Amino acid sequence: MLKCMIDTVKMDGGMMKLWEKAPAKINLTLDVIGKRDDGYHEVEMIMTMIDLADRLSFEDIDENRIILESNSGIVPNDERNLIYKAAQILKTKYQIERGVHIVLEKNIPVAAGLAGGSSDAAAALRGLNRLWNLNLTEVELMKAGEEIGSDVPFCIVRGTALATGRGEKIKKLPPAPPGWAILAKLPIGVSTADVYGALKLEEIKEHPKTNQMIQAIEQQDFLQMSGLLANVLEEVTFRLYPEVKQLKEQLQQFGADGVLMSGSGPTVFALTNKESKMKRIYNGLRGFCKEVYAVRLLR
Ligand code: ATP
Repeated sequence: MLKCMIDTVKMDGGMMKLWEKAPAKINLTLDVIGKRDDGYHEVEMIMTMIDLADRLSFEDIDENRIILESNSGIVPNDERNLIYKAAQILKTKYQIERGVHIVLEKNIPVAAGLAGGSSDAAAALRGLNRLWNLNLTEVELMKAGEEIGSDVPFCIVRGTALATGRGEKIKKLPPAPPGWAILAKLPIGVSTADVYGALKLEEIKEHPKTNQMIQAIEQQDFLQMSGLLANVLEEVTFRLYPEVKQLKEQLQQFGADGVLMSGSGPTVFALTNKESKMKRIYNGLRGFCKEVYAVRLLR
């Protein structure tokens, strides 16, 4: 499904324009198993993509510079944007003496635990690889992505995967079984660094059952997968923002197969593989949370 949407190319008097989709991810598991000497945490997480995506276009321009525009009033359009960083990295590494005009249509909530920025960066690496005919392999794109952020390599690979190390080591898994995720995001932005900073390893009560989750995915067992959802950062974010805990508790009352906070939050999501339930949860949630999305798990 992704393929046909990313391969659109338009030629306009020699100037090329192309598009990429940047889907959001959710965590099915998130475990922290240690702290490393370099200050990063050693993680073990299973992530999957959902059908909620930003859209990026890339167009040749005559000047040798990066122009970024977006419909988002929140994310910066300069060097601080991960898209801009991705373009700069490729320009420097491969001595590209060409400019590009990138337009970002932002649909993924920002600072929400959905890796929106990382997925945009990955889409920029993929898009510019095509626009500039760099012929970089997936592994080379992942290496470039690592410099931008730990979640970028996964966003290059997409699908469903186990991420280890600081999140940059990726092992592909079969696609998650078909179903819907209903997401709710409170109007707060959570800093991933703050949450990791407040995490005390010795206070983790129960670690996610990562291997069992992999088995559930391999067996395409939706109920088993939903029952194994787990994220050790929940406790930390709940402490910092008790309203996120309340939202999760409310979500649990709608009868989903499983409910979890994604990443460092504040987005919480419910899983179901029944359309009627998806609609019931979506409608129920809209009563007390402004930002609600019902989307398919991407396969
Ligand atoms: P993660 O789950 O990887 O921690 P997140 O979903 O919590 O990510 P993002 O939305 O990716 O958070 O980004 C958070 C911060 O990154 C914001 O402060 C934002 O200004 C900055 N940022 C830079 N580039 C982007 C981008 N293209 N889209 C969104 N945020 C960006």
